[in-house]
Amino acid sequence: MSTISRPRTKHRFRDSRSTAYEFLGDIRVVCPRCTRSAHVLMVTGAPEPEQRPLFAPRRLTCLHCGLTKTKASRHLVFPLGTTRGMTDPYFGHPLLLQTETRHGWLWAYNPQHLTLVRSYVAASLRERAPWYDTGQKMTLVARLPAWVKHAKNRDEVLHAIDRIRTSLVAN
Ligand SMILES: [Zn+2]
Repeated sequence: MSTISRPRTKHRFRDSRSTAYEFLGDIRVVCPRCTRSAHVLMVTGAPEPEQRPLFAPRRLTCLHCGLTKTKASRHLVFPLGTTRGMTDPYFGHPLLLQTETRHGWLWAYNPQHLTLVRSYVAASLRERAPWYDTGQKMTLVARLPAWVKHAKNRDEVLHAIDRIRTSLVAN
């Protein structure tokens, strides 16, 4: 009797050179009033046309409890490291899409961001995008902490991402 090993499918991942900043247009946060899912969106038609989108005023909107608040700030806060939960850079509210692992916190600004992180982690074959053709060195994938990229942590990280997805459906 012989054993048959299932052929491994090679998943290719090509870094689309997304930066985390590209996901700042729609951030999912925990509503400070009802603790369900709220959006932090760019205020459209905002004054000061010279403002870069990154610094455009943002509005927090919760469709569950009706909370809205607006903030214009040139001081954005991006906490470093993964030892604590992540907050949105505009209002400082906890991100909705995050979970703690024994290595640290895994987080995403919105579902598209989470999907990109998942496709990177799930891929067994990773192709690094050449940064020199855009001058964009700090792609999203390059900014992921080392423990997220380790193959030995892959299953654990994928399970954590699935937990985050579940919380998205629940909220
Ligand atoms: Zn709410």
